[in-house]
Amino acid sequence: MPKIEIIPVHSINELSILLSENDCRIIAGGIAIRDEMGTVDSKIRKLIDISPLHEQLSFIRFKGNRIEIGALTSVEEIFVSPILQTFSPALIRAIASWESRASCSQATIGGSLAYRSLFDASIPVMIIHNAKIRIKTINDFHEIEMDHFLSQSPKYRLKEDEFIFSVSFRKPQGFWGSSWSSIVDERDNSSIQAAAMISLDEEQKISAARIAVQQKGRMVFRARAVEKFIIENHVDELQIENAVSNVKKDIPSSAVNPPLNIMESVLKTVLADSLKQANTFQKEL
Ligand SMILES: Cc1cc2nc3c(=O)[nH]c(=O)nc-3n(C[C@H](O)[C@H](O)[C@H](O)COP(=O)(O)OP(=O)(O)OC[C@H]3O[C@@H](n4cnc5c(N)ncnc54)[C@H](O)[C@@H]3O)c2cc1C
Repeated sequence: MPKIEIIPVHSINELSILLSENDCRIIAGGIAIRDEMGTVDSKIRKLIDISPLHEQLSFIRFKGNRIEIGALTSVEEIFVSPILQTFSPALIRAIASWESRASCSQATIGGSLAYRSLFDASIPVMIIHNAKIRIKTINDFHEIEMDHFLSQSPKYRLKEDEFIFSVSFRKPQGFWGSSWSSIVDERDNSSIQAAAMISLDEEQKISAARIAVQQKGRMVFRARAVEKFIIENHVDELQIENAVSNVKKDIPSSAVNPPLNIMESVLKTVLADSLKQANTFQKEL
């Protein structure tokens, strides 16, 4: 294997300049890039190590009405964050499911988003939060919505001088609940994950809903027909049962043999759980 040079950077400015001048790649936690170098991109000769930028790029903070997570924030830092424990129970649950706890202190959210792995439990959670990715270019910043960033047609590609600076989402307000769950498909041991975020109005009708389903390693999609079924309605257990049967309309046509009953079952769990949280909020006030 050809020798790879690793260049540590000590300022954001230096990182932007290096990215714009050289044919090189960023290394953050280094978990996913090893696979890429082995299988996808054997041309990589230089890696820019951004771990010395921990102080500038590792944070979880309020920014106006949003919560912003710096690109170098690790999975472990997210897991123990009081802000995210309060405002994104779905993200905390998704991380709790992660098989290798040892890698949690290494893997970063920036690496996770740049890698866009369909194995990554944070992806459906970022979709339900309608997250925005803040991208730094050599001269400026710009933001991209998660739906667009993940879209396949056309897929957003980071330009040579661009890197992920942070990801942010709106602080949920009012009576809301968010959840994440997963069920293993025993036919092939793959797992189906779902995340949901709902808000209730004062009459306990669902005023907003975002739901995402991920078949691990294969596809991720917004369950828009399910969302449409519940928005502006009072929802109880029976209606959740009816709502989830709409997921068949949302499954991408390219999906092969999707396990419909498992998708419905995992959706029932996340919707019931989100609703319970939102109702608890309402009762507390
Ligand atoms: C909340 C969360 C949940 C996760 N859940 C799972 C799970 O359930 N199962 C699982 O297998 N994995 C999971 N992961 C891990 C994930 O899929 C990635 O493997 C991991 O986060 C990669 O991070 P890294 O820092 O090691 O990236 P690296 O391996 O260092 O980099 C990966 C890729 O991203 C690029 N990159 C890194 N940082 C940036 C940046 N700031 N800007 C632009 N490009 C960048 C690199 O050049 C490379 O192409 C999770 C990660 C998170 C954050």
